[in-house]
Amino acid sequence: MIHKSAWHKHNRQMLIAGPCSAESPQQFSETIQGILPAQPDLIRAGIWKPRTKPGQFEGLGAAALEWTQDIAKQAGVPLMVEVASAEHVGMAVEAGIRHVWLGARTTVNPFLVQEIASALEGTPMAVLVKNPVSPDIELWSGAIERLLKAGIERVGAVHRGFSGYGRTLYRNHPSWEIPIELRRRYPDMLILCDPSHIAGDRLLVPEVAQMALDLEFDGLMVESHISPDSALSDAKQQLTPKALTEMLGRLVHRSLQSSDGVVNARIEQLRTQIDDVDAQIISLLQERMALVDDIGSVKEEFDITILQHERWTEILRTRQAWATELNPDFVRQMLFLIHQESIDRQAERFRYARASEQVN
Ligand code: PEP
Ligand code: MN
Repeated sequence: MIHKSAWHKHNRQMLIAGPCSAESPQQFSETIQGILPAQPDLIRAGIWKPRTKPGQFEGLGAAALEWTQDIAKQAGVPLMVEVASAEHVGMAVEAGIRHVWLGARTTVNPFLVQEIASALEGTPMAVLVKNPVSPDIELWSGAIERLLKAGIERVGAVHRGFSGYGRTLYRNHPSWEIPIELRRRYPDMLILCDPSHIAGDRLLVPEVAQMALDLEFDGLMVESHISPDSALSDAKQQLTPKALTEMLGRLVHRSLQSSDGVVNARIEQLRTQIDDVDAQIISLLQERMALVDDIGSVKEEFDITILQHERWTEILRTRQAWATELNPDFVRQMLFLIHQESIDRQAERFRYARASEQVN
């Protein structure tokens, strides 16, 4: 994989902007003209739109390839489109397009990703892979691996959030830990954030974009439309070019370190204290698990069940009451994790006992 710096030459964050869908030459060119002052690296436009439900606008299809490409060329910014099949790849290559992305509903399907990767083999395409709709990092990195195996040199990722059940503040849950893990696995790969599809609401796009920059994403893919309210897809989340430019102007670009040595020393000092506390947490957890093992051997010897609901309910209630300074959701999740590990350790011990009985 070529280093992320091969995607763009300047050392600011990358910007991809453009409408969710190309709707007409007028809508597309007016939108681009509005976006140009923000100096986008690439212009995005959906031509084939994989929609969750039938009856929604599915894009103008191949008929829009030529004029979108012409308009982007005139503006002097390369065009990027979504491809969802090998056939789309063929048509995009033919039209002279050199940048494509795989959508969330495509990344989820390994057969389709493989077909697309094979169609891309030997082409000069640069490819961005959106995360799958489900919070599954293996599917995401699996798609990236398929493209790399096909010899694509410029491969990057776009975090666009994950589907969930029920209503939440954002349209798609950010689950930031997943792109953070992707970064750990591919430190040199370009990883962008798409705050539009995470937020689902134009008022929330700026805060998601800011969060992405604070988490060291390499840039943003933002949906912008000359008249968002009349957009044929994703109307609620698209920004006018003016709102896009204003948002970009307001984003704070924080750096990894302060230029002030005193500030850095203060952070170092606090980090040393955190290291210390973490060491205590680990040591206490080990102590707790050793006790869990001791109880396990008593339970095993006297045929007592691993789980006792009353005890578990009591643990949850008392610990949550102790944790007055912590977020209740966090405390709950942490207790669930510790409890599950305790059960697993005891279950493992029970199974081993039975397995050795059979051998004897
Ligand atoms: C899009 O970029 O317009 C799109 C359909 O995105 P996603 O695949 O993230 O839903
Ligand atoms: Mn969209």
